Amino acid sequence: MNCPYCAATASRRDTHAHLWAAHPEQVRMFHDETRDVLKFALDCPFCEEGLERVANPRGREPDFLEEFRREIALVAFDLLLYHLQASHAERVGLPPVAVEEASPGGMT
Ligand SMILES: [Zn+2]
Ligand SMILES: [Zn+2]
Repeated sequence: MNCPYCAATASRRDTHAHLWAAHPEQVRMFHDETRDVLKFALDCPFCEEGLERVANPRGREPDFLEEFRREIALVAFDLLLYHLQASHAERVGLPPVAVEEASPGGMT
């Protein structure tokens, strides 16, 4: 498959590793003041959808651990790969997934 952010080509698994190695800045982390949770977000390079999830610090201090950032980024890139496969499979050279995974919109 092709990396969504650059011209690199690799297997899906290697692309996942490549995303963290080459494009870690794509994952944004921020504190949601209204709900007092830590969130991460990642923009899809092909559409406006983007991804946003609540991060789970598992009782650790998220501000100080680089390992935590890595963990979050790997989860985010994994979600991105699922999204790419569901919505933009042909653009990154992945086989399309089954229909139920790709249902548009999604429930809350
Ligand atoms: Zn890349
Ligand atoms: Zn997209």
